[in-house]
Amino acid sequence: MTSQTIANTPTPEQIRRAPKVLLHDHLDGGLRPGTIVELARGSGYAQLPETDPDKLGVWFREAADSGSLERYLETFSHTVGVMQTRDALVRVARECAEDLAEDGVVYAEVRYAPEQHLEGGLSLEEVVEAVNEGFREGERLARESGHRIRVGALLTAMRHAARALEIAELANRYRDLGVVGFDIAGAEAGYPPTRHLDAFEYLKRENNHFTIHAGEAFGLPSIWQALQWCGADRLGHGVRIIDDIEVKDDGTVHLGRLASYVRDKRIPLEMCPSSNLQTGAATSYVEHPIGLLRRLHFRTTVNTDNRLMSHTSMSREFEHLVDAFGYTLDDMQWFSVNAMKSAFIPFDERLAMINDVIKPGYAELKSEWLFQQTASTSGSTVEEG
Ligand SMILES: [Zn+2]
Repeated sequence: MTSQTIANTPTPEQIRRAPKVLLHDHLDGGLRPGTIVELARGSGYAQLPETDPDKLGVWFREAADSGSLERYLETFSHTVGVMQTRDALVRVARECAEDLAEDGVVYAEVRYAPEQHLEGGLSLEEVVEAVNEGFREGERLARESGHRIRVGALLTAMRHAARALEIAELANRYRDLGVVGFDIAGAEAGYPPTRHLDAFEYLKRENNHFTIHAGEAFGLPSIWQALQWCGADRLGHGVRIIDDIEVKDDGTVHLGRLASYVRDKRIPLEMCPSSNLQTGAATSYVEHPIGLLRRLHFRTTVNTDNRLMSHTSMSREFEHLVDAFGYTLDDMQWFSVNAMKSAFIPFDERLAMINDVIKPGYAELKSEWLFQQTASTSGSTVEEG
């Protein structure tokens, strides 16, 4: 190993400073535990299992780790439970932007389901406007503390509900006003994406963008439907595409028709390693399909999914991948450029983010080893002399 490859392996501190791009993060999966406690107190929400922020944080992680779908879903009933007023939504969105910026994320698409925030009497439009306002405030506060971030919203429709077309129309109405695309989420089994064809066809007619949660719990048929029936621009997770890839004993690889299509058409895969370990979609970081998919040059991206439940951040996801696969700053740059290319904002803005923010950021980090070496060499010369 040369000194340059050693230097190119990022330290946790470099990982945090590296410009990162996040495409798959749920607003109701990323609250600060302290915020949940305060919002619950302020709104009279009495169902929290713990009222001490530290204990509550642990409870979320353990519930999400438990392997029980019931307990996993309960975590979201609490976060969504305290996000039913305008002020709560503004605050959660503001803190989301601030936390991501602090972690070195320069561009994020954060998703949420407006239909889940109506219990306090807000309209769908009021929900979208509150979240947009929070994101703008968070961007401004981040800038004041020396960070730069841009946050776009994705509006999610729930697979088991029947409001997808209405939410798609909402996403279209707020296009260029903070909303950059659409998504469907929720249990995959029993709720194929084709149930919501009307929403996807509407968005295509409007030249709008959407991603679909597919290929996480449910395998290839879900990915196939999302792409070939619904026309998804990206796949949320898409981790089961691995089922269509055969690695032979001699190391040669055979791609099935669907895996070939995904790679040939550069379909972005929004991979969320820690979340996949919790839901059983992968067994360990080392065995996570992201390693093989990156080697095979699929359009792979790294994401957080639910930062609170998975006790993670973009930096932590990359730390796990650096440990598991020996990834370097070049690999991190590759993932970040991939994600930026796959974002739903206009092409010229994506290109500017890549050329003016991401590449210079990595160049700066990659050049640091030169100066560290100079400092240690001159230090030892002085000692020897
Ligand atoms: Zn997700």
